[in-house]
Amino acid sequence: MMSGMHTTSEAYDFKAGIEQIIAELQLYYPHFNERREEKVRKAYWYSFDAHKEQKRFSGEPYFMHPVEATKILLTIRPDVDTVCACLLHDVIEDTPITADEIEETFGQSIRFLCEGVEKVSKVNLRDDQRGQKLETLKKLFLAVAQDIRVIFVKLADRIHNLQTLDHVRPQKRQRIAQESQKIYAPIAQKLGLFAFKNQIEDLCFQHLHPAVYAILQDELAAHFVEQETFIRRAKKAITEELKAHKIPLIEITGRRKNIASIYSKMKRKNLHSVSEVYDLVGFRIVTKKDEMCYRILGALHRKWTPMVGRFKDYVSVPKPNGYQSLHTTLLGLSGSKVPTEIQIRTEKMNLDAEYGPAAHWAYKTKRSSNFDEDYVKRTEWFPTEIARSHASEKPADEFYDQITQSVLDDRIYVFTPKGDPISLQVGASAVDFAYAVHTQVGHTIVGAKINGVMRPISTQLENGQIVEILTKKSQVPREAWLSFVKTSTARQAINAHLNRQRKAEQMPVKNQLNELKTQVQKLRPMGIKPKPNEQTRLIIGGEGGIPHRLASCCSPKTSDELVAYKSRGLQFLVHKADCDELRKLLPERMLSAEFIAQRGIKIVTQNRVALLRDVLDVLAESDVSIADMQLNTLANKDVPQSEIELLLDVNTTLDWPGLLRKIDRIKGIHSLSEVKTVAQ
Ligand code: MN
Repeated sequence: MMSGMHTTSEAYDFKAGIEQIIAELQLYYPHFNERREEKVRKAYWYSFDAHKEQKRFSGEPYFMHPVEATKILLTIRPDVDTVCACLLHDVIEDTPITADEIEETFGQSIRFLCEGVEKVSKVNLRDDQRGQKLETLKKLFLAVAQDIRVIFVKLADRIHNLQTLDHVRPQKRQRIAQESQKIYAPIAQKLGLFAFKNQIEDLCFQHLHPAVYAILQDELAAHFVEQETFIRRAKKAITEELKAHKIPLIEITGRRKNIASIYSKMKRKNLHSVSEVYDLVGFRIVTKKDEMCYRILGALHRKWTPMVGRFKDYVSVPKPNGYQSLHTTLLGLSGSKVPTEIQIRTEKMNLDAEYGPAAHWAYKTKRSSNFDEDYVKRTEWFPTEIARSHASEKPADEFYDQITQSVLDDRIYVFTPKGDPISLQVGASAVDFAYAVHTQVGHTIVGAKINGVMRPISTQLENGQIVEILTKKSQVPREAWLSFVKTSTARQAINAHLNRQRKAEQMPVKNQLNELKTQVQKLRPMGIKPKPNEQTRLIIGGEGGIPHRLASCCSPKTSDELVAYKSRGLQFLVHKADCDELRKLLPERMLSAEFIAQRGIKIVTQNRVALLRDVLDVLAESDVSIADMQLNTLANKDVPQSEIELLLDVNTTLDWPGLLRKIDRIKGIHSLSEVKTVAQ
């Protein structure tokens, strides 16, 4: 075994390592002169000497790690200082060499980068130690706020560590994979370092779910040939189409989705096999100028049918991290039976998207290796401003506190089903998420799928979750939401809506209720009767007993989605939500309306407390409220049982049998039956 290890270390050719690094730099570096080459070579052999006596867990020479990490780093085309820092990143921590010595030999900036990486690395994340995780984030933010290049080195370091976890204890392996998945993958994504993000996600997935990973890999292999053929044909078809329109083209590439994102899509959409994921393959078209992107889009849309609602223009409106591209999805491309995603962008946009901010220095006109600071600001991820403005004058503790409060420790990062990160305060609910996406999504939220599972809209979100919001046109913001929302965005939007509603609705309704009542009586003989259904009540804007009549134009029934319109006669006229007449009317006079029926159920169970909470969750998801509840203990049984009777206010458009099935599926229910209510 010893000789085996020896062979491995002999086998690693460090002389070839540096030549590879230099060759790579020469390829992409615009001004790679002798001085720069010397600097990289010096850092390489300096680090080699420093780590000479050390071995990795695998028995291989330690210096392999910084070399391999640097090769990973080179894929995002960093500048020379970042490359040197990556080669030297473990020297201060693991060898007798001090930070001062590094500064003496390589300058202040490389010292800072090395120290930054080291600081970030010192703190570990454990699931049960939230404080430590925040500590990791805090250090990361602080170091990065001063020099973003720290994160490039840290990510490359982490990717290589994830690639070589086999010799690490299983528990530690899990911890590193979890930390990477929760912290480093989202950061890579936010910075637009997609190549890094995909690698980290796949590696984490491989460590955390090895069995699933292996299955997916096999399934993907089975599709490989078929996909290759499709990629070839589609590229040819697109090229010919663009040629016919005389649109200059730089390149078309077919891309495969990474395994982790295939899996997250399968979970989200409840799919059972890889073949059900339709966007396994996508295409990227790179052209010269912005306006050509639009011409290409036009040409493709004329030739193939675009999928409705899938076109995104990130060229005119870039994502917060600066990402620019046109996205569309085509149907029937090259005879494909599934929709195909297409990205169209310029060369410059492509460089940004592929290499992120790391390569930004490369196309600055100045012959310097300074970073494009604006890029960092545009990413909005790091609290650069706060860090800068307070760093000098405040004592360290206070400074940490300030950073912590304002941006760090009370934030979580969750994702839309499309993978866009949304940052929220810790404790934020699905409702907060919905409002962060869009005010209208917040206003109309009726349910939330968290990692593919239906949860109550008040559920507190956790870092890394994928949240899908379900909406319903007739939904309106509820006062009760104010008791659990955390973000000021959500709070303000809900309050604003409630205030508007109060103004529009309560004043006339309450002040003139008597007048309304007489009017209603006058209207009745005119032949327009309220729905003569004694089992149902009409609720307008969340309140019952409001005078109304049913519009004759669309004659709404209890099974319809409804909207109430406050007509001039100070009475509400109830229309079907899709009634054409409504389009001609003023939206500010409209309120939600629903028919409510009272229904009763009886549940027999042993463990009533935990079970009741589950039942209430299911009811809340369906927006069913409880009118009355009774708990009886059935003492005459061998094991005491509880009987829970619930009287429910149920929207008549609700799938009642479906709701009963959901309740019936809750663990611990002995029996579930419907009971007659007073109204029935
Ligand atoms: Mn390292």
